[in-house]
Amino acid sequence: MAAIAAAVTAPAVFGLISLYYEANALQVRALSDSASVSKYIFRHGKMWRFHRVRLAELVEHPELDNDAGQVRIFDQTDTLVLEQGPTLVIPTLIRTAPIIVDGTIVGRVEIERSVEALLNKTLMIGIVSTLLAFFILFAFRKLPLSLLDRTLATLVQREEELETQNFRFEAALANMPQGLCMFDSEKRLLVSNARYAEIYGLDPKQLNVGTPLRSILDWRVASGNCPNDGQQYINQCLAGIARSAAYVAVNELQNGKFIEVLHQPMAGGGWVGIHNDVTQQKHSEEKISHMAHHDALTDLPNRVLLRERLDHHLSSVQRGASLAVLCLDLDHFKQVNDTLGHPVGDALLRVVGERLLDCVRDTDVVARLGGDEFAIIQTGVEQPTSASVLAQRLVEALARPFDADGHEVVIGTSVGISVAPIDSMDADILLRNADMALYRAKEAGRNGYSFFEVGMDAKMHQRRALELDLRKAIEVGGFELFYQPLVNLERNEISGFEALLRWNHPTLGMVLPATFIQLAEETGLIVPLGEWVMRQACAEAAKWPDHIKVAVNLSPVQFRNKSLVSMATSAIANAGIAANRLELEITETTMLQNSEQTLAILHMLRDMGIRISMDDFGTGYSSLSYIRSFPFDKIKIDQSFVRDLDKSVEAIAIVQAVSGLARRLGMTTTAEGVETNDQLEQIRAQGCTEVQGYLFSKPQPASEVPRLLSSLWKKCPAAA
Ligand code: C2E
Ligand code: CA
Ligand code: CA
Repeated sequence: MAAIAAAVTAPAVFGLISLYYEANALQVRALSDSASVSKYIFRHGKMWRFHRVRLAELVEHPELDNDAGQVRIFDQTDTLVLEQGPTLVIPTLIRTAPIIVDGTIVGRVEIERSVEALLNKTLMIGIVSTLLAFFILFAFRKLPLSLLDRTLATLVQREEELETQNFRFEAALANMPQGLCMFDSEKRLLVSNARYAEIYGLDPKQLNVGTPLRSILDWRVASGNCPNDGQQYINQCLAGIARSAAYVAVNELQNGKFIEVLHQPMAGGGWVGIHNDVTQQKHSEEKISHMAHHDALTDLPNRVLLRERLDHHLSSVQRGASLAVLCLDLDHFKQVNDTLGHPVGDALLRVVGERLLDCVRDTDVVARLGGDEFAIIQTGVEQPTSASVLAQRLVEALARPFDADGHEVVIGTSVGISVAPIDSMDADILLRNADMALYRAKEAGRNGYSFFEVGMDAKMHQRRALELDLRKAIEVGGFELFYQPLVNLERNEISGFEALLRWNHPTLGMVLPATFIQLAEETGLIVPLGEWVMRQACAEAAKWPDHIKVAVNLSPVQFRNKSLVSMATSAIANAGIAANRLELEITETTMLQNSEQTLAILHMLRDMGIRISMDDFGTGYSSLSYIRSFPFDKIKIDQSFVRDLDKSVEAIAIVQAVSGLARRLGMTTTAEGVETNDQLEQIRAQGCTEVQGYLFSKPQPASEVPRLLSSLWKKCPAAA
């Protein structure tokens, strides 16, 4: 409309106004011309019609130049009197004015002028105004419209994008494993997903947009989908929201579910809540934590938890109480494990755990430290008296037979005790002290208990120092082998030598095996040491006459590893001696441990031609059963029997029985520790085939062997 108005109005107004002015100007001219002509007629009378030249002068307007148009004068009869001016281009505008003389119209003046220029101008203006109108049209309509179109397109695109986005959000919301809810500042629900409803057992219909939080909480409390104290929970929720700070909380619901809530306030009020069902995770965390703190076999607390509990209890000791730490170690557990198998051993440990729990009060802690070691923290009673009562009860309880997986098993226990605050207030030191006391209890004979004493510390230090010395000695070769002859009673000659280890200690001098073999076994150092003994003994024997054997003692620890066989093979090969010149002496303890592997190794050794002797026979529990389990080449009757020959009939009977059995099985019998001629005679009378003892020779350095070989038989009374 504005454009049309602009296009039409401007030229129309211009045209009309110009026309109006033009018409007026013409009219004025017509009037003035008619007035001039009137005046002229008045003066010149009726013949004016013929005064054309004068008339022409009257109506001539030189100031108007060539735009004066045409002037016509008519008389009363409308006859043209004068016509002056150029021919006009139409259209034209005509104005007339009457010629009045003395009140009478005597003619008229007619002025005609072309309005072509005016029309042209109007046209020009029309063109300009049309252009203007187009511009206006474009500016007011086209431009905004296209802008509008563009905006609209953008909006449509936005909407589509939003829809896609919405669709994605909804899919994400519906599929996310967490429950999500969003509330506004008035605590009214804005958004929630299906999982949120599911977690809290809500009907999705209850979760319409605008639902107040309070209603949701009330429904949850009513249906039990909240922690135990519903009201308190609601208060907590409201308080959390009021703080308008982010928080994470884990709630345990009445149905056992654990829900982790992540509360995140939003700018401008309201908040987003993410609710995650972490029940599974919680359970596995608890399981892992339980596993980390408990022994899998007995489900008793492990060392870690024991240590924690001990720390905890020690804090109350600081307030005047006392407590005791009891360390237990089962006697003969290894035998049970080795002879009856691990499943029985495991079952035994479980029943031991149960029995220990029966012995203590609920407030005490029973833990399994590993293997057959247990520990107890006794609290809340007078110490050290209560600890000794408990220790005695434990010793008695564990001495009673057990039913382990259908097997009746008899074990026992030794107990070491340390007391806080007397011995220490430090958990580690208390445990270590109890352990030292346990060591003492075991040394003092099993099935007993022992309290920690200050001197034990020093003893342990001594032991550690000895261990260090031992390691160094193995490195630098601080050992030597002594050799003690074995005398054959039938031929009255030396049949071989037993290699016996000696330690040339830098300060202690010559140290006997009793001082260090056990330590070497406990520290595993016996393995390299035993290898050195075997290689050294074989190498030494290579220097002796071919019929002289060499006996080497083996520790049970060396049997834990099959490399013993290859080691023996290489020792023989390196020395270049016949395998049957090497005798390996093993004890009952070796037979006790992992008997299958031990027997396999023994068979491999024997198959190579190496001879196997049973050492210290009679000192163990079931020596005879071991004799039957492996074809030993020799039985060495323990010194204790030889020592008792003169005072114990039983000893004589045993020596006799063993000699008889051995003879029937084709084995040699050696009596150890023969010191007197009487003993020798009795031994000979009981049918032993071989003797060894101070009567013939104490163990001697290797350099003495040649002398012994050439002189010893003379000492043998029978040879005399
Ligand atoms: P064992 O195998 O029973 O060795 C015999 C022990 O009795 C030796 O003590 C020997 O000196 C001692 N003995 C021999 N005749 C008599 C006697 O008439 N009267 C008395 N009272 N004692 C006698 P030793 O050399 O002190 O060795 C003690 C134990 O140390 C050995 O007992 C053996 O079990 C162990 N042993 C020695 N050398 C080695 C070794 O190289 N390896 C291993 N694993 N153990 C060894
Ligand atoms: Ca021996
Ligand atoms: Ca022996």
